[in-house]
Amino acid sequence: MTFRTCPGCGANLDPQEICDCRKGKPMYSGNPINDFLAHDDEQEEQEEQLAKLPRCADCGEHIQQESAVNIGGDLYCDSCLDAMRESIDVE
Ligand SMILES: [Zn+2]
Ligand SMILES: [Zn+2]
Repeated sequence: MTFRTCPGCGANLDPQEICDCRKGKPMYSGNPINDFLAHDDEQEEQEEQLAKLPRCADCGEHIQQESAVNIGGDLYCDSCLDAMRESIDVE
């Protein structure tokens, strides 16, 4: 006997059945499996939000931090700053 349990509401489903709670508005539980199953609209929304973020002048990635370092008008993300940092040994 094969049946699945809906990760959203816990209802028993046939193997290929999509639960009613999945057909309407996506639900978010904080569970990564549920979020993975969620509708694509949310992903597009996230990409839109991402596009509004400033890009790092070095790696070109969107800066998803609360703050970044501004050097000469360019923003740099923490991972690039870490890569740029060199230890200074004074004899
Ligand atoms: Zn359900
Ligand atoms: Zn960077």
